[in-house]
Amino acid sequence: VARLVMKFGGTSVADVDCIRNVAAHIHREWDAGHEIAVVVSAMAGETNRLVTLTAKSAIRPDPAEYDAVLAAGEQVTMGLLAMMLQGLGVPARSWASWQLPIKTTPHHTKARIAEIDTDAIEAGWKADRQVAVIPGFQGLGPDNRTTTLGRGGSDTSAVAVAAALDATCDIYTDVDGVYTTDPRMVPGARKLDRITYEEMLELASQGAKVLQSRSVELAMAHGVPLRVVLSFADPAHPEPGTLVCSEDEIVEKHIVSGIAYSRDEAKITLLGVADEPGVASRIFGSLADANINVDMIVQNISEDGRVTDLTFTVGKADLESAVAALDGDDGTVNCRKLVSETGVAKISVVGLGMRSHAGVARTMFTALAGAGINIQVISTSEVKISVLIESNETERAVKALHDAYGLETA
Ligand code: ADP
Ligand code: ASP
Ligand code: MG
Repeated sequence: VARLVMKFGGTSVADVDCIRNVAAHIHREWDAGHEIAVVVSAMAGETNRLVTLTAKSAIRPDPAEYDAVLAAGEQVTMGLLAMMLQGLGVPARSWASWQLPIKTTPHHTKARIAEIDTDAIEAGWKADRQVAVIPGFQGLGPDNRTTTLGRGGSDTSAVAVAAALDATCDIYTDVDGVYTTDPRMVPGARKLDRITYEEMLELASQGAKVLQSRSVELAMAHGVPLRVVLSFADPAHPEPGTLVCSEDEIVEKHIVSGIAYSRDEAKITLLGVADEPGVASRIFGSLADANINVDMIVQNISEDGRVTDLTFTVGKADLESAVAALDGDDGTVNCRKLVSETGVAKISVVGLGMRSHAGVARTMFTALAGAGINIQVISTSEVKISVLIESNETERAVKALHDAYGLETA
């Protein structure tokens, strides 16, 4: 008997027929004798619909009420799925996150899971191998209010539940695995049989939305075996998908494993900031105080040794508060001019092989130059190179890089 967490994303539960297909996948695993917890997303488009409703109801919605509305989507799916499973003769019941509970930090709209009480799930398993159907994306904050985990957060709920139950985690979605890049953008993208936690974490945090990055982080930290599989496959003939695992479980190694893109970036340039000790600390300190993540950073060499220009990126959603934090008239940031721009995209090339192979950056820059694409900012880590480019060149850039690294056939 294995312990199994099965997660189904929005398109996999888009309507009643899709949910019936999901129930058939669960039925198969239940028949095999496994102990199962299921994590579900809201039906496709539902969370966006709820976001629109909040936007029509308040200019700046109260974050706690915003979460109360957004968490509703997943609760519809959990009930529908549980009743369909019952119809198939599979004992099942839904557990809202406050009923278990799944406890989180207090940060509404981007809470983190702190603790999961699995007693109820395990009691159900013991009684009659009851399937627990759990809504993803939501939790219970310390003030007894519903929180949500950030968009795409059901992946994280699933991995956290798997970690708490010491189970494996299968993420059922609308693609049959993790590809070398988004297969919807690049038809020649190749499916990977395996990918390391490290590489998947980089790809996810650089924009590959097939898994929420926090879910990969958790899986890596707790050693949860994580698989991405196609939900639309025939439930009688499931496909193997992609296994996310540790490096020593991978035989075939590539220098570059994949390419991610993100159009959710904004660029801020501070022109004419003083070139003296403490300036960067003040600037990035005030952004950190406002809970804003800064990603790529470049500072020019100043010509006269007195003033310089500083460019960095933040998430598009944080741009307004970033400008507000920097524009404060408390003199934190003294600059001639602040310029912000949203028409940018970040393209990242990821691969563990970069640690030991030279020339990866050159291939990237040569390919982009060949496509006539201008690079605005560059940043690197041990296993990743990212460039910031004009947003409407995203697709051309990703395709050129996919070609340049031979990912289609590698
Ligand atoms: P779900 O609703 O199941 O959570 P998502 O839409 O969040 O599904 O994630 C699946 C999507 O991720 C795919 O449809 C695909 O377009 C996109 N995607 C981006 N990068 C990749 C990649 N490298 N491999 C597979 N899918 C990717
Ligand atoms: N329903 C949420 C969203 O659309 C969470 C998820 O599907 O992972 O972001
Ligand atoms: Mg998702």
